[in-house]
Amino acid sequence: MRNIKSVCVYCGSSSRVRQSYKDAAVELGRILAREQIRLVYGGGQVGIMGIIADAVLENGGEVTGIIPHFLNDTEVGKADLTELIAVDSMHVRKQIMAERSDGFVVLPGGFGTLDEFFEILTWRQLKLHDKPIVMADIDGYWSPLIGTVDHIVEEGFAHQRNRDLFEVVSTVADILPTLRNEPKSDVGIQSDRT
Ligand code: AMP
Repeated sequence: MRNIKSVCVYCGSSSRVRQSYKDAAVELGRILAREQIRLVYGGGQVGIMGIIADAVLENGGEVTGIIPHFLNDTEVGKADLTELIAVDSMHVRKQIMAERSDGFVVLPGGFGTLDEFFEILTWRQLKLHDKPIVMADIDGYWSPLIGTVDHIVEEGFAHQRNRDLFEVVSTVADILPTLRNEPKSDVGIQSDRT
């Protein structure tokens, strides 16, 4: 079983979305606070991002936000976080988010969320880390994407063993047990927290 002390959550910056996606963020925030697992995320107060950060804080948990200076205007860095780190670029942001986390969760989101998901997945494929990745398929939101991924495997552009580098769950309650129970693979670079 993996020792998960901090979790990076990738999720949307839009709030014009279905209520069930917002509810999922609140539920995950509550669970992280209860389990004393630190939330690491993009540091904004907009959309699902702001909702999960608020849920963790309101339930007594800890949150680290990492935001590039230039996004402080549009995503508005959340001032009430346990820790807010301002960085110079998107690349540094994603690097620090990855370094600070013991596992990754993908909630519903848009293009930015997709970029973050595929980057952390391909870094794992390249054996740059061995931290678990869980996609939360709330209300089937990610099903078309999962279909595309399966198509990529069927057509030979990705190997099934790399498809297995992320897990899909359909309820928020399944996220943490799945992160904790994922077996470690034999990769070159290990997390310093595991
Ligand atoms: P979105 O899923 O598009 O609502 O964006 C979610 C998060 O991803 C936000 O914090 C965005 O700033 C971030 N984001 C947007 N575009 C990119 C990108 N090209 N690379 C990395 N992160 C991004």
